[in-house]
Amino acid sequence: MPVADYGEVAALLRAAKKVVAFTGAGISAESGVPTFRGSGGLWRNYNAQDLATPEAFARDPRLVWEWYDWRRQKIAAAAPNAGHRALVTLEERAAQFTLVTQNVDGLHDRAGNRRVLKLHGDIWTIRCTGCGRTRQDLRAPLPELPPVCECGAVVRPGVVWFGECLPPGVWSVAEQAAAQAEVFLTVGTSAVVHPAAGLIEIAHRGGAKIVEINPDLTPYSGIVDHRFHGNAGVVLPQLVV
Ligand code: NAD
Repeated sequence: MPVADYGEVAALLRAAKKVVAFTGAGISAESGVPTFRGSGGLWRNYNAQDLATPEAFARDPRLVWEWYDWRRQKIAAAAPNAGHRALVTLEERAAQFTLVTQNVDGLHDRAGNRRVLKLHGDIWTIRCTGCGRTRQDLRAPLPELPPVCECGAVVRPGVVWFGECLPPGVWSVAEQAAAQAEVFLTVGTSAVVHPAAGLIEIAHRGGAKIVEINPDLTPYSGIVDHRFHGNAGVVLPQLVV
């Protein structure tokens, strides 16, 4: 496995015109937002994989909403960390910077990134399962679970669940950016959720230098050019200097 060199990757980032950062739940872990996998990934003994599905919602919308409401409260109490802030600096600095996130927490926006491609939606958006009306709702906790639309139908979180399609417009922009990237940072993702994780492979095939930041190994650790075995909030600020 390649040995990480802070100076070398910092220089790569300074020289590159096209930079992509691909983030997952791990970048928000140091803000106190639980990840799906790893320690703290369970809620009332339920697995995320069993709750973040259309089937789970159809079976028990209240249970699924209780979980989302708990997550919304955690996120509302959280603040962006040094890892999020380093990506703001990168956006300000790189000629062409694309931030692609699997996160639904909105912490990249709150940190100050101007353009965030959200592959899996936004936990602060809610969508009616009947009339399809979509709106922002920042209340946490919500007064009524599950929330009900004016049309009478149950409202769902505006996120992409396992088994659902990604927003097509967002995916095609992300895919193109990955294919053209000179440096591709993969940060805090277990890289097991597809198609999102496939962006790493696309960037690799396109000739990008791949930089992984994660305290654990991922299925892509073997193909990356530089691997930083550490927390995003500690590693990223040292790369954006
Ligand atoms: P995941 O839970 O599968 O994996 C988290 C990864 O982050 C792990 O590989 C872990 O080793 C790593 N990690 C933990 N702490 C870290 C740190 N401080 N710095 C760097 N890395 C760290 O998360 P994922 O890969 O994003 O999983 C996919 C799904 O989880 C996505 O669909 C996403 O929508 C959803 N999710 C989002 C949030 C959020 O918005 N904050 C939280 C949980 C899950």
